[in-house]
Amino acid sequence: MDFTLAPAVLAYRERVRSIIAAHHTPQTEHHQHTSGTFNNPALNRALAADGLIERAVPGLGAGDPIELWVLFNEMEKAGAPLDALAMAVMIAGVVQHVGTDAQKAAVIPAVTSGGALICLGYSEPDAGSDLSALTTRAERDGSEWVINGAKMWTTMAHEARWVILLARTDASLPRHQGLTMFLIPMDTPGVRVDPVHTMATERTNATFYDDVRVGDDCVLGEVNGGWRVMGVALSFERGVMGGTNPGVPLLRHTAAWAQESGRITEPAVREKLARVAIDNHVAALLTQRSAWIAASGGLPGLEGSMTKLFASESYQKASRWFQEMAGAEGLLQLLQPGAAAHGWIEYDARHSPVTTIYGGTSEINRNNIAERHLGLPRMRR
Ligand SMILES: Cc1cc2nc3c(=O)[nH]c(=O)nc-3n(C[C@H](O)[C@H](O)[C@H](O)COP(=O)(O)OP(=O)(O)OC[C@H]3O[C@@H](n4cnc5c(N)ncnc54)[C@H](O)[C@@H]3O)c2cc1C
Repeated sequence: MDFTLAPAVLAYRERVRSIIAAHHTPQTEHHQHTSGTFNNPALNRALAADGLIERAVPGLGAGDPIELWVLFNEMEKAGAPLDALAMAVMIAGVVQHVGTDAQKAAVIPAVTSGGALICLGYSEPDAGSDLSALTTRAERDGSEWVINGAKMWTTMAHEARWVILLARTDASLPRHQGLTMFLIPMDTPGVRVDPVHTMATERTNATFYDDVRVGDDCVLGEVNGGWRVMGVALSFERGVMGGTNPGVPLLRHTAAWAQESGRITEPAVREKLARVAIDNHVAALLTQRSAWIAASGGLPGLEGSMTKLFASESYQKASRWFQEMAGAEGLLQLLQPGAAAHGWIEYDARHSPVTTIYGGTSEINRNNIAERHLGLPRMRR
């Protein structure tokens, strides 16, 4: 693989960095941590105004997926909220791949202007890792579909303009084949959003669909082709679009604390900082490999699993090490007097476990690597 970034990508990265520096401020950070909503609309709009979001949408941009990776990697390293924008950009890419002309006309400018978010309605109370067990159903009634069911963990549903919703449309087909993806406006009658607050600070939602009536214009891709549409989305998500370098801001905050407190002189502290710096570098290289595979026309499914697994597990390990190292002060939260690293260590210790769950758990990624990379036998039905 080629590690060199083209001059146009380097220029793109500089523009992204300067816009993040101007719009990701202590005030916006405070708002995200007190509201639990990890989104910065002013930052999204500023990136959009410079054309930087459009360039990152898979299938649209001149330099993507390298620019897709650069955008979200820079946001993540700066500690800027990226999940909301990442989901919208990813789904805009899916619409670009499989959507109708009308869906493209509605969704893509709305996302690339930084004005609209889209949430993911896949998981259910009893279907997460084994998503094909989902029970939300969409039934034909004349020219309409009638959708009934409940989704869990629909992050950003309270701010999103659309949800992409995976529903069962043919129970007589094998489980993966009878599913259809719908692109539904969140203000459609019968859609309800209830908040779910997590240990990670971030708010997510439970969403309910009660006799939601939509037309064929809301079908994304083919009827009973929902699994394939989800595969397109996953191929962008895993390993490229953020979630792969969360250890960078953690290390920055902790290294500054070690300097300020004088703990930097302790060999054990220096060793842990060095180990985390190495892990961060490995995670960055794995991410770049996934982006490079995507940029070369491949689908980094396996490499994305490796990247996501390594990055989230090493982030969790780092936050535990640092919390142990900081002692009682490592239990104090953001804004609490005396908190180690101004509370970032405590925040990351609560946030990091969640990153090993969403977007595919560590066990599922390990299974993927064991079967597809190591050639181990499949243990599941
Ligand atoms: C904060 C947060 C935000 C999220 N946001 C979204 C979102 O926006 N949209 C969305 O659709 N979903 C979202 N999710 C859901 C997420 O994708 C699922 O939580 C995840 O896929 C795991 O599914 P589950 O919670 O049903 O756990 P389960 O699948 O029930 O897993 C429980 C445990 O069993 C293990 N396990 C399961 N199957 C296997 C297996 N075959 N082999 C070995 N171990 C196994 C798992 O690794 C886990 O440890 C979010 C989750 C969280 C926590």
